[in-house]
Amino acid sequence: MNTVSTPPYSVSRLPAFNDNYLWLIDDGCRAITVDPGDAKVVKNALIERDLQLDYILTTHHHGDHTGGVSELQAAFDAKVIGPDSPNIPQVTQAVCDEQMIELMGITFTVIAVPGHTLDHIAYFAASPNPLGQPILFCGDTLFAGGCGRVFEGSYAQMHHSLEKLKALPQDTRIYCAHEYTQANLNFAKVVEPDNLALAQRVKTVSQQRASNIPTIPSLLADELATNPFLRYDKTAVIAAASKRLNRKNLIGDEVFAAIREWKDNF
Ligand SMILES: [Zn+2]
Repeated sequence: MNTVSTPPYSVSRLPAFNDNYLWLIDDGCRAITVDPGDAKVVKNALIERDLQLDYILTTHHHGDHTGGVSELQAAFDAKVIGPDSPNIPQVTQAVCDEQMIELMGITFTVIAVPGHTLDHIAYFAASPNPLGQPILFCGDTLFAGGCGRVFEGSYAQMHHSLEKLKALPQDTRIYCAHEYTQANLNFAKVVEPDNLALAQRVKTVSQQRASNIPTIPSLLADELATNPFLRYDKTAVIAAASKRLNRKNLIGDEVFAAIREWKDNF
């Protein structure tokens, strides 16, 4: 478990499965977990830190994000917050786009981000907040250096969802759910071989991963500078997408779709 924020509030990263990160926010007594795919991992952290679990947040219905919800809900009598989705029947408080919820003194704004799944939502806490910086829990929508696969929605939907995340403050910390950064950046540098910020990030992330250091959370400013899935309006990315499709005059949705399909087959 790695604590990445300042006391008394902290956000802890709980590694699970092969490459998932489950998240735990606590104030020293009470806790919120985000996307608890594995109950045991969360339980161990709660016991170790002597924390009471008050809230379970879910971003979307996939099992690696919801697999531990029922067990934790029963063990701690925790409130389950999530999208209004038939695929997450454990939700006790369904939330919708732009809804604000206050949990343990932190105000989160819900952002609907369909694409990876149709029910996908993200949770954003603006500054000031007790965690010291704007924070975003975005599940499998925006990754460090990449974005989630589009399983249920359309490319246009995913593009629109990422557009919303792109508009958040640049100092937002991005808490996504997987350590995919290195593979994502390997693809990004094929799309933008001349992006110097990206080359630097590839280097930094290689060093981190060689020492088994997590690369999450990342910073939105870094994503804006290096993540091709947020750079669909940049000349170099548009040119790469055009070359890939052998078509000119692509618009935003089409650039995004071309890059996403390219990554799917990378
Ligand atoms: Zn997923």
